[in-house]
Amino acid sequence: MENIFANANNEKNQPDNKNEKTLILDQYESIKENYEEIFVTAAIQIRDAIDKLKPEENPCTLCSKKCEIKDIDIFTDYPPGCAYKEWQAQTLSFLGGEYQQKLKNTYELLMDKKNEYSCNKCGDCCRLAVSPYSYEQLKQRAFKGDKFSKDFVSVFVPYQSEEDAKKANPEYFEALGDLVDDKTYYYYCPKVKDNLCSDYENRPDICKDFPHNPLKLLPSRCSYNVWRNEIAKQAMLLNAKKDIIAFYKQKLG
Ligand code: SF4
Ligand code: SF4
Repeated sequence: MENIFANANNEKNQPDNKNEKTLILDQYESIKENYEEIFVTAAIQIRDAIDKLKPEENPCTLCSKKCEIKDIDIFTDYPPGCAYKEWQAQTLSFLGGEYQQKLKNTYELLMDKKNEYSCNKCGDCCRLAVSPYSYEQLKQRAFKGDKFSKDFVSVFVPYQSEEDAKKANPEYFEALGDLVDDKTYYYYCPKVKDNLCSDYENRPDICKDFPHNPLKLLPSRCSYNVWRNEIAKQAMLLNAKKDIIAFYKQKLG
């Protein structure tokens, strides 16, 4: 598979004049370029699956309505009782059921692949974590039962200032700032000592499961970049399919 992320851990692959921030941004330019192509592939694959559900024989020849619809498409507005309306209903049920389950299974396989790699104990993910939520918002989400937020606030605390966050990992901080348009909040875990977790046995699931998402930016020293390189294209295809299915559901629902 084409390697769409640079392996930032392999210094031999890094041009001398590129710093970590440039490498990270290059990775994301590459993702953007690939994503357009992958999105088209995902749309074609979903359309092919939908076409397989279409009535094989033209039902209009047996129909008394004589509505004379020429554009037989999944999004056409068919009259009640039309066989093509049934096709639309089947499509909705297929995309929200069997097809979605297939995508979930594939996603789990990709996440399982992460177990083939291990943490190189750089401590970067403990020293600089980001969230679109403020500490107060995270605590509210935790209070309402959101497990991720609950885990997060059980270990992470906010940096006092963006300057402090930047000191923890300047290149990663800057790359995040360039890539993320929305307001971002920066956190660290006080339990990291000499790159190691000082409370390893009691660390929450968010620490055990890191990285949680194959499409999120990782610190360049993170050994899981190799895993992400390997599965990025498949993960992007799944992500594109998820968005396209949401579009079909909205149009047909
Ligand atoms: S609890 Fe341990 S593993 Fe989790 S963020 Fe803190 S130092 Fe890292
Ligand atoms: S950034 Fe990656 S390699 Fe470094 S401690 Fe975290 S999980 Fe391990």
